[in-house]
Amino acid sequence: MTSPKTYIKAASVTQAISCATGHTGNFRYLAGGTDVMVNKFQGNDEASLLIDISEISDLKGIAINDSFVRIGALTSLEELIVHPLVTRYFPVMAEAAKSVASPIIRKTATLGGNLLCENRCSFYNQSEWWRDAAGHCLKCDGPICLATGGNKNCFSKFVSDTAVALIGLNASIEVADNDGVVVIPLEIIYTGDGINPRRLSKTAIINAILLPLGEDCRTIYKKLRKRETLDFTSLTSAVSFHNDGRIRIVLGGVHAQPVIVDGSVTDDLPYLISRAVSTTRIVDNDTYSRTYRKEMVGVFLNRSFKELQLI
Ligand SMILES: Cc1cc2nc3c(=O)[nH]c(=O)nc-3n(C[C@H](O)[C@H](O)[C@H](O)COP(=O)(O)OP(=O)(O)OC[C@H]3O[C@@H](n4cnc5c(N)ncnc54)[C@H](O)[C@@H]3O)c2cc1C
Ligand code: SF4
Repeated sequence: MTSPKTYIKAASVTQAISCATGHTGNFRYLAGGTDVMVNKFQGNDEASLLIDISEISDLKGIAINDSFVRIGALTSLEELIVHPLVTRYFPVMAEAAKSVASPIIRKTATLGGNLLCENRCSFYNQSEWWRDAAGHCLKCDGPICLATGGNKNCFSKFVSDTAVALIGLNASIEVADNDGVVVIPLEIIYTGDGINPRRLSKTAIINAILLPLGEDCRTIYKKLRKRETLDFTSLTSAVSFHNDGRIRIVLGGVHAQPVIVDGSVTDDLPYLISRAVSTTRIVDNDTYSRTYRKEMVGVFLNRSFKELQLI
């Protein structure tokens, strides 16, 4: 009897989806592997099969397509930072990509993988023996949330830094699955449930990220973390001010999904900020305290509005 495969390198999106659909156990797509492999080593990912999509050429490349820039999901964060179409039309994307991890990780880490990296929590992102000793929480089949003591909700943090900038820019994603290809707004894939943070089907593959051209807008991006390199976010904010007066606030690291508050330049801006602060669901599961992070949301947003010369 041959033992079941634990690793397959897919040559095309169709082949990857068909391998995934035919697999009876857990599986994971592997792009740069900088999130998947760490989770596997910590016993937080039990996939019995890795389907490597890293060499599928259809998922690569950055180009202008009609009225948008199409960024292949396999584009590395390092490539994003220097690509002329990104630096010219969406400099905030380069800034967000540069704030992720460290230079070595950004060489391998992809944009698609960043949008789907797992939610994090200081009680969950630990070694298996640490979690055995401390007790397992809701996100790893335990009875309670160790951060809150509750037994219903997981508040693991949404940590994708690039998603925060992309949602501010009204990005969409092109998603392939068994029933074809669809284009959907990026923000709708995030559920707000810390245990199952995304509503994409398990077999779906993000082909590309689409950024609309002609959205005349300026965005101020900020990230709070203890060290300028390596650390995941304790709070990421992007405030986009569109030429027609629209304002979009997007926050990461303070809820199980991105917090999005839409408004306009004619709104009461301090009220807009307080709405954003009150929408966050921050619990004590980070190296900074809950109180400090909550306060910093207001500080970041006030500074961003000042830099945009709106207040
Ligand atoms: C030390 C360290 C620091 C880090 N710091 C940060 C940080 O500051 N900010 C941050 O946002 N991230 C951070 N990360 C996490 C990670 O490096 C990035 O999120 C990275 O961009 C993930 O991309 P990847 O290609 O390596 O994803 P992978 O690990 O390959 O995949 C991540 C997830 O996405 C899925 N996936 C990948 N591509 C696709 C696709 N095209 N279609 C469908 N599913 C797909 C995988 O199945 C998996 O579930 C850090 C990681 C480490 C180890
Ligand atoms: S927020 Fe609670 S349930 Fe979720 S990962 Fe952290 S400790 Fe576990």
